[in-house]
Amino acid sequence: METIDLETTRGVELIDITGRVKESLGGIISGVCIVFTPHTTTGIIVNENEDGLKGDILDLLNELVPIRRGYRHDRIDDNAHAHLKSLLLGPSVAIPVENGELILGTWQRIFFVELDGPRRRKVYVKMIKG
Ligand code: ZN
Repeated sequence: METIDLETTRGVELIDITGRVKESLGGIISGVCIVFTPHTTTGIIVNENEDGLKGDILDLLNELVPIRRGYRHDRIDDNAHAHLKSLLLGPSVAIPVENGELILGTWQRIFFVELDGPRRRKVYVKMIKG
């Protein structure tokens, strides 16, 4: 298993990690690549890397889960909104690998989504041959 270390720089941001995931394939020709975040206030998504769209995604998350809406978890560490956004996104994606390449659509990129930064983060990349 490979680890990608990230240092996020903002409270909320989308970081395109497609290139780093490709570097982590390690010569596997055929299989499935699982990209997983072990944090409870982050997400992993696949979508298009376009600045307007990235802003739209973050706006949507903020509309769905406004900050400090009386959440019980805010009494502990004031970041309930980040946990709730994280559960909407999910912690992982699985991407087919063929001929040593990630099988992504033309506009598809893999993003790490920071929801409670800035922080040091990790992403695990696990290859399953097959
Ligand atoms: Zn928390």
